[in-house]
Amino acid sequence: MNILLVEDERPLALTVLKILRQAGFTVTWADDGEKGYEAGKNSPWDLVILDVLLPKKSGWDILTGLRSAKVNTPILMLTAMDEVGDKVKGLDMGADDYLPKPFETPELIARINALLRRDKAHKGQIIQIADLVIDRKSHLVTRGGKEISLTRREYDLLEALAINEGRVLSRETIQERVWSDDEAFSNTVEVFVSTLRKKIDAPFDKKLIQTVVGFGYTVRAGA
Ligand code: CA
Repeated sequence: MNILLVEDERPLALTVLKILRQAGFTVTWADDGEKGYEAGKNSPWDLVILDVLLPKKSGWDILTGLRSAKVNTPILMLTAMDEVGDKVKGLDMGADDYLPKPFETPELIARINALLRRDKAHKGQIIQIADLVIDRKSHLVTRGGKEISLTRREYDLLEALAINEGRVLSRETIQERVWSDDEAFSNTVEVFVSTLRKKIDAPFDKKLIQTVVGFGYTVRAGA
């Protein structure tokens, strides 16, 4: 497993490098934002650990840049700013998880392993979230073993949310990914989420599609 660590605080970086190498990971260290961004964009990493406050380019800018360059590598943000607002901002911008500094070693390793597991599960042909199963090759969707018939757009929307399980996608992000070059009206995403909910969630007790007020939507099994 190849991990890119983007962190400018040398003592912290050296500690993390040591911990991760002991845990069996191969780790490359970038000590400023520009190097981190270039490395993140140009190599296939299994995971990127990204600090927020960095010289030359901030962690937020790197995150946004990588996501708009269609780099889907899992990104774990590290930051001293442990306010909820920053966390939501990071997740909305496409980070996969967020770990406030200072952190304990077992916590870091646990988060990394969880992200790698999730990413592996979602790179495959079959995505399973609770009893919802999506076959990305045949576009067959079932819940509790029953086939659910979706239109092309509904399927694309569900797949975009499911690939990013647990990650909040803003309406703008969804619009960009699902409707790409089409002119979309501002309420299109809401309308499609609503029809998708009728098919995916309404007949079942456990609701998978969640609204994050003021930010967007997410699919998660644990709600
Ligand atoms: Ca820093």
